[in-house]
Amino acid sequence: MRREYDVGHLHLDPDFGLHHPCTYDIPITRELKKGQIMPMKAAVVREHGTVKIEEVQIPEPGRGEVRVRMVATGLCQTDVMVCEGGFPATLPVVLGHEGAGVVDSVGPGVTGLAIGDKVLMTIVMCCGYCFQCERGDGELCETLAPMAMTSAMLDGTVRLHDSAGVELHHSFCQSSLAEFAVVPQEVVTKVRDDAPLDLLCVLACGATTGIGAVLRRAKIEAGAHVLVVGAGGVGLAAVAAARLAGASTILVSDPEVHRRDVAINMGATHTIDPLENDLVAKAFELTGRGMDYAFDAAGAASTFDQSLAAIRAGGEVVLLAIHALTDAVSVPVLAMLLQKRVTGSSQGSIKPHTDLPILVDLVMSGKLALEPLIARRVGLDELPGAMSDMQKHPGRTVVVFPPADV
Ligand SMILES: [Zn+2]
Ligand SMILES: [Zn+2]
Repeated sequence: MRREYDVGHLHLDPDFGLHHPCTYDIPITRELKKGQIMPMKAAVVREHGTVKIEEVQIPEPGRGEVRVRMVATGLCQTDVMVCEGGFPATLPVVLGHEGAGVVDSVGPGVTGLAIGDKVLMTIVMCCGYCFQCERGDGELCETLAPMAMTSAMLDGTVRLHDSAGVELHHSFCQSSLAEFAVVPQEVVTKVRDDAPLDLLCVLACGATTGIGAVLRRAKIEAGAHVLVVGAGGVGLAAVAAARLAGASTILVSDPEVHRRDVAINMGATHTIDPLENDLVAKAFELTGRGMDYAFDAAGAASTFDQSLAAIRAGGEVVLLAIHALTDAVSVPVLAMLLQKRVTGSSQGSIKPHTDLPILVDLVMSGKLALEPLIARRVGLDELPGAMSDMQKHPGRTVVVFPPADV
């Protein structure tokens, strides 16, 4: 006689294998026995400097949380920093904070999301009610933003466990370098059904940081003269946004020729090798008085100094990259007297739930080019190698979970 066992979200039929209650197929063929807990693959860091793909338990969503079956997750320099210990995280931790996928299970108390919804995840969580949220600066939310740094979920506990039942910690309430991720509903933004997630996942962090810095933080005007220092994923996204905003000059500084070539494809009007040529002289040669804006996506002390020197009086430097949270920069008094402005941007200062659908529409209408931003797509098993040679690949590395699109 056939018997069915309901283990959480999974209905196990010992005679006929695994059936999933969702309306779409998921590529899982592993056989389960009664009482077994369904495993998934995840990128786990147990000691700084080493990431391994392990089989861990598929997490269950708690109150106010959803589980997302990952379709694609971008690999970010911050993941490398978490792995190497340059960014605070409690070990062992599952990496990933640039995820896109399909809602697979909905916890109690969740509103506005349903199984089958395509979603992008962000590291920006806004409560909507605190001082910063009420004045429109949700990326600085006083209630939820600090929680993203705790390596736990919003209630202070974890949902992730390894195959032995040992607790694993979360990355930015996301941990999306895994086949499934349980996240607070505030992390996800629903996007249109025809959105190609293996492209748009880069909007979840890196691309949005560059795009938002240009369009939301600096709010550059048409005709502006823009310098972008560093043609990695964030810098290239800033180039695409500057082009979209109608910048008349987009000068990109990067020592790697192949990265400069990608920058030209993204819309740069000029490029320069700062090791061979004088970047500041070039900025003044092109504009007569210096750049209106400089976006420092390299984040070294030397690139900050160059950015500050390359802008005109009253111009603005937006710092986009960090190597360690303890880094410091120095601002000459003369720069302040010349009313040069220095600021930074967290996640591009975007409002995810309103801005991400707009950015998706811009990409899908061809106005915002993201594809040149993607250097390669790899499987999760290739992640450890991909993390070690990211610098060789200009643009974003995207981890794709089969099937690539649904
Ligand atoms: Zn990131
Ligand atoms: Zn808030």
